[in-house]
This record gives sequence, structure tokens and C-alpha cells, in this order.
Amino acid sequence: MSQLQKYDLVFVLGHSHCGSTLLGRMLNRHPDLLCPGEFLWIDDALDKNLPCSCGLAMNTCPFWAEHLPRLPPKILKDYTQTRAADLHTLRLAANRKVLLDLSKSRFYRVPRLARTERMGLIFLARDPRALLASRLREGGELPHEIRKLRKWTGRFLDLIDDHQPDSMTLFYEDFVAQPEKTIRSICTFIGLEFRPELLQPGDQEHHFCHSSVSPYLKGKNEIRIDDRWRRELSPDQIALINRKVRKIPLYADRYDLNDSTMPAG
Ligand SMILES: [Zn+2]
Repeated sequence: MSQLQKYDLVFVLGHSHCGSTLLGRMLNRHPDLLCPGEFLWIDDALDKNLPCSCGLAMNTCPFWAEHLPRLPPKILKDYTQTRAADLHTLRLAANRKVLLDLSKSRFYRVPRLARTERMGLIFLARDPRALLASRLREGGELPHEIRKLRKWTGRFLDLIDDHQPDSMTLFYEDFVAQPEKTIRSICTFIGLEFRPELLQPGDQEHHFCHSSVSPYLKGKNEIRIDDRWRRELSPDQIALINRKVRKIPLYADRYDLNDSTMPAG
């Protein structure tokens, strides 16, 4: 049965390390969809000379060398100038029906994009303890990172609420446990046919802007849950996080935020 495509632009919302790159690599295998990675971070990528996810510099990567000259120079210097029309320029030049963007927090900073027609939003939520363990690994400080996580969770939930029924919330843990079910639900949401090759993200070169290049990830199709937080966080850190995020129903309803540590002795 053929699906009726509902959206031309789809933005993924979520905290860093929410699993959006994997989601983008899978959906980018669809012949009707283009995922350019975190497009609203292109000014930062160019400014810092961050490579494309294919490993080449942005101006030598075949995809970006072709597409950068078509884009308004002002958006390459300041992402807040980006208009939906610029994303359509990229989408149409690549001859795709849907563009999926992974910029996450920066979508919130460009409010005009939220008023785009035929636009869908996906919030990819994840266990806050896993998100925060990733931030600590990068040198973050826990109380500060918890405040940021709460603030941005509220912002993402508001965007999702404001954009009903053209929005959906997914959980990273469901995605990695049942990738086919999750990818099928996203295809239904957008109105694209599901294809088995979407589950083989490593069988294709991807040209994601502002996406960390992990030599390990390249060419890999294996999907495995990352739950390093269980070993990395101390019982005190877990108790603090649980206490601070318990009031957010999104997390309280989905994760066991009760402290399971038994008293010593
Ligand atoms: Zn590339």
C-alpha cells in the first residue's frame, strides 16, 4: 500500500548523545529522504573546519562541494538566518522529497522554522542518566548539566506539544531494542514506505555536517544499547539525578527513577 507523504521537512529534537546520528544514518538510506546531519550547525562546522562525516573537509567532500555554493552565504556564517526555503534548496538539489535535520537545540533558536508548512518534529528522548554520563565524560559538571537537561527537556516538550499532531516522541532505548519497529513508525509518521535497507546504515556513505566522525561507526550496521552510565555514575550521582528529574513525567513514566541502592551493612 502506498503511503501519502505528509512532511517535506522533519526536525529531530533531543539532547546531545540522544542517538539522533544513528536515526539519521538509517533514514538517510531512504531514496526519497536526505539527511544532511546537523545542518543548522553548518556555520560552526565551517568556522572550526570540522570534517563531513565521510571524513573529508567540507569543501572537498563531493556532497558539500556541490551543495555549499548553492546556499546563501549569510546562512553559512550565521545559522539564525536560515529559512525553510534554504533547506528546500538543498532537498530539491539532491532530488529528495523529505529533508531530515538533526540540529536539535538549534531548531529552537530559529523560531521561524517552527512555522514551516508540511513540517514534522521528532523528539528522541533518552534516559537522563545516560545523557548526563555522556556529558560528564566530556568534562561537564553534574549540577550544571542537570539544570541544562531539565531546561531543554521542557523546551523540547513545549515544541512537541505546540506542534501536535505533527510531532512524535520516541525513546532511544525502544529504538535500539526494536530498530525496525521504530523506523517503521517514523516512516508511517512522515508518510514514506518502509524499506529493509534502512536497517543497514553502514552500507552507504553519509555526508553529515557537524557530526562526529567515528571510524568505528563507519560501515557498521550493528546496533547495541549504550548503558555505560550504569558503571560510570556513582550511587550518589544517580540519586541526585533521580531526585532532580523525577518531577518530569516524560522521565518518571518511562524510567525507574527510584534509588535501588541498598543501605550498607
Ligand atoms: Zn562528505
